[in-house]
Amino acid sequence: MRLLKEARNSLLLCRNKWRDRKTHVYHRCPHCRAMLRLPRRPGFHGVTCPRCGQHFDMTVK
Ligand SMILES: [Zn+2]
Repeated sequence: MRLLKEARNSLLLCRNKWRDRKTHVYHRCPHCRAMLRLPRRPGFHGVTCPRCGQHFDMTVK
């Protein structure tokens, strides 16, 4: 059953990614692996993860 739930979650994420592809980017936190949704603004960003509170840098193209 766990596998089914994960499959459904990843499907949902795929759908959300597709729906938000013009406005948001999805990025995984390098510290806790949480999936973060960020506004699609090209450039270099400093991001603070809401789950673990760690700060990391990312570039949006
Ligand atoms: Zn994190």
